[in-house]
Amino acid sequence: MASEGSTAAATGAEREPPTDGAGGPMLRVKDVHKRFGGIKAVDGATFDVAEGSITALIGPNGAGKTTLFNVLTGFYPGDHGSVMLEGRQIFRNPPHRIARLGMVRTFQITKALAAMPVIDNMMLAAQDQPGEKLRNVVFRPAASRRREKEVHERALELLDTVNLHRLADSYAGTLSGGQRKLLEFARALMTEPSFLMLDEPMAGVNPTLGARLLDLIQRLRRERGMTVLFVEHDMEVVMGHSDRVVVMAEGRVIAEGSPDAVRKDQKVIDAYLGGGAATGAEA
Ligand code: ATP
Repeated sequence: MASEGSTAAATGAEREPPTDGAGGPMLRVKDVHKRFGGIKAVDGATFDVAEGSITALIGPNGAGKTTLFNVLTGFYPGDHGSVMLEGRQIFRNPPHRIARLGMVRTFQITKALAAMPVIDNMMLAAQDQPGEKLRNVVFRPAASRRREKEVHERALELLDTVNLHRLADSYAGTLSGGQRKLLEFARALMTEPSFLMLDEPMAGVNPTLGARLLDLIQRLRRERGMTVLFVEHDMEVVMGHSDRVVVMAEGRVIAEGSPDAVRKDQKVIDAYLGGGAATGAEA
């Protein structure tokens, strides 16, 4: 039984049987609520994310996308609801536990990370992996060295993919805003997530690097079956690169479906017109 209330859900990552069998949804978000004082930022959001899909979460300003994103990843405790990741209840679980279950989000480069070389930022991102446990370093030094070499190679490979390899020894603080975003993305990939959460991945990234990043996302999905949920304002990116689109307005999910179906949905057009933005829909 899926625990709907926050109290039962808050007790931990309990194993629950997948409700849809093999190939079912990887993430099930059900009736999630989050208020800030009198503001209902998320007001009963419900949707599924299929395994191996690229799903965009869109909606006008103030729709509750970022708040929901933070609730799903454990950064904000939700008030009520259920969030199942591969059959496990993760609602109100702490971020590190959710990350260990494979659902990883990008993090801003903090002041401390900005004071370190790019390559060290990458190596540090891998430290939570099982191979990085202290006992391995102490009792299996050869294995640990081998592992470190592998991690270093992977870091360089990923830096190459996001075009930051020449800056591997530069301090992260010297990167431009767009380059920092790419580093944040590459750091998230160091943990080899099965479910990647991206909050406005294209913001501040120049079009050439943005295209590279989108290609990489598609490749990771194709080759590794990675599932991606991303919040994005750029409708061209959303329409061209997602399999499904979930649309929020006023804290609720008002539509979901293929990019084509969603752009023609009158509720979506109305929500965007009310919010003063455009979907690029052919009205
Ligand atoms: P945008 O696209 O503009 O980033 P969004 O869809 O991500 O918007 P949220 O940022 O989640 O929307 O905001 C939803 C509502 O919750 C808004 O009314 C916002 O003002 C409010 N809100 C968000 N975070 C907080 C907070 N920490 N404290 C109080 N109110 C908040």
